[in-house]
Amino acid sequence: MELANRRTLIKAMGVAWGMALSGTLARALAKAPATLKPDAQSALIVVDVQNCFITGGTLAVKGGEEVVPVINHIAGAFQNVVMTQDWHTPGHVSFASSHAGKKPFDMIQLPYGQQVLWPDHCVQGTADAELAHDLKIPQAELVIRKGYHKDVDSYSAFTEADGKTSTGLSGYLRERGIKTIYIAGLATDFCVAWTALDGRKAGFRVFVVEDACRGIDLNGSVAKAWAGMEKAGVKRIQSSDIELAA
Ligand SMILES: [Zn+2]
Repeated sequence: MELANRRTLIKAMGVAWGMALSGTLARALAKAPATLKPDAQSALIVVDVQNCFITGGTLAVKGGEEVVPVINHIAGAFQNVVMTQDWHTPGHVSFASSHAGKKPFDMIQLPYGQQVLWPDHCVQGTADAELAHDLKIPQAELVIRKGYHKDVDSYSAFTEADGKTSTGLSGYLRERGIKTIYIAGLATDFCVAWTALDGRKAGFRVFVVEDACRGIDLNGSVAKAWAGMEKAGVKRIQSSDIELAA
């Protein structure tokens, strides 16, 4: 190689290296601020941290129980905590066992759209539907139950899967003066994501605490959920981004 060509090559490599660096810098700057301090207008929403979704439950999410200590830890930073509880009737429409010839994780068409079929889970009044025993958030102010209409599922804590039946949560938060919600729990790609998206629709600032969530991941659904949430303006943060009270 001629010297001039070599110089050009080295120069080009330098430019590429600089671009790579500035890309890293841009990504770092685009990230949420390192320290977030929840105020009186912030609420933590703990989604479906129930026996059914952790090891030993009827619809266990891989590593589901790992979110419990993380959530207990960050909950101390919040003046307002709301918990949700998946709370189905026996024979619920989202159960595969309610549809002849269907098995868990099959899809069906319901009047309100596509529905994944699940194993029977979180049946009202059962130990399976109870909040996880190790979840220690005695200051939680509200437990909102969802999925209790036999013919409609509800992943979101705000609106049932028909897209119009409200759970009342946005009215509650608004009347309490809440403007920002932080979401943690199970599962990232279903109840957490749907709650986050509906939270944005309802006009709240929304953070999802990634390491305080675990996903089910059916055919890449976790990556899809994050893409959808980020597009909707949901901020992806880690528990370490939240400033704990001194
Ligand atoms: Zn359910």
